[in-house]
Amino acid sequence: MQSRGDGDLFGGVNLGVDPVPELQVPESWTWTLQIPPVAEFVGPVEIRWNEGCERGLFATRHIFPGEVLLVSRPLAVHSGVWAYSTAELVEQLLDACRNSARTRCQLQCLTDGWTSRAPPTLAVVSQALWPQPDTLPTEPLGSFLTREVLVNVVDRNSFHVNSKTAIYGLPSMINHSCGNVNASANILDPLGDAILFRAETEINAGSEIFFPYFKVSGSLHRRRERSEAMGFSCRCERCRFEAEILPGTKAAAASKDAMDAFDSKLRDEMQELRDEPKEAGLQSAMLLQEILSHTRRMASAIDCTWREREVAWYLHLALPLYWCGVWCTQELDPSLWKCTLTLVKARCELLLQMVLAWEYTDRHSYDHLKCCYMLYLAFMEMTRLPLSSNHFWVPLVHHEVPLWRLEETPEPAQHTTSTELYASSRRSRNSPVRLRWLGRTRGG
Ligand SMILES: [Zn+2]
Repeated sequence: MQSRGDGDLFGGVNLGVDPVPELQVPESWTWTLQIPPVAEFVGPVEIRWNEGCERGLFATRHIFPGEVLLVSRPLAVHSGVWAYSTAELVEQLLDACRNSARTRCQLQCLTDGWTSRAPPTLAVVSQALWPQPDTLPTEPLGSFLTREVLVNVVDRNSFHVNSKTAIYGLPSMINHSCGNVNASANILDPLGDAILFRAETEINAGSEIFFPYFKVSGSLHRRRERSEAMGFSCRCERCRFEAEILPGTKAAAASKDAMDAFDSKLRDEMQELRDEPKEAGLQSAMLLQEILSHTRRMASAIDCTWREREVAWYLHLALPLYWCGVWCTQELDPSLWKCTLTLVKARCELLLQMVLAWEYTDRHSYDHLKCCYMLYLAFMEMTRLPLSSNHFWVPLVHHEVPLWRLEETPEPAQHTTSTELYASSRRSRNSPVRLRWLGRTRGG
């Protein structure tokens, strides 16, 4: 838009610009407004009964990490505070029920389990929840999908992802697990808040898809509290392991001692060092020694008959302690430690155990830490070779360890504890490809 030159360019009555013409959309084009922003999609999954006689989503073939499992549009979305979301979501659902036969069918499938009506068969549920064209309802709403019924649907099926609360049809069939997470979800804001589920790990044909409904860090007690607040009592494999297999073992005593020491003393010591950075260089060496003595005792108490995932759930019990140890290795003045490489080695050891602890519960932290761990291992490898042939790695590590320290004679790089841990979890692993990347550990 340009001024004609007979008025003030910056506004006012003399702007002299023609009014913007109203855009007229022909009435026959209004169908364009009804095109959904994204098509729904269902990948290699199907609904089946699981061992606990609940409906769940299962893989119909072998699935690779990153594959899209499904894309589903929301039945209702709320983007404000979670506590105020229920009333708003229920009103949206009631509105949708008046205009959409498909929404009614989907909601009727989600009410199964707590109404007096007979539950729909799997064939009926699959038919209702799979993508299909919508139509206007031919019957009045009736007495089944009442406000009370919909409050229950919202309480039991709402997803809290990317600070939004939403209700979806097929995704509601995915069950929660604290320790076998193999899928992640993202709400696609620009695409009408559709939700996209992807595989985070390899999933064997016939295996159930699991997604965490809440943060699964923390003790069994904390997780039970969270699941009960959401209307169910978690009986997943990890919860059963911690409630039935672990108690009374040497490992349980080691992890309890470690966390008792952390809660009663080590956490406060770390906090004090944070407030007094001048002291941190010296004092964190002692703190690190104490942490390592606990984590090494925990590692040596691992039962050789445990499967890899059980080792991971066990290590998860002392996660705050590992964090504290990694913090110490960052704060510590390398000149006060026996040798820089010993320090890096200690960090490697703590990172490895954290990586294992996260493998089945938090895939994002797992991927991030795996990279850190590989970098540290690469550093250890590098220090065994002439620097000139490995200059590529130097920029990546020189922030952590001053280059002049590489002149020191390094101790032989052997991650004894990590290797033992690796070997013990290897003996009982299920899948032959598991932990292959950890094989880079020297001697492992
Ligand atoms: Zn659980």
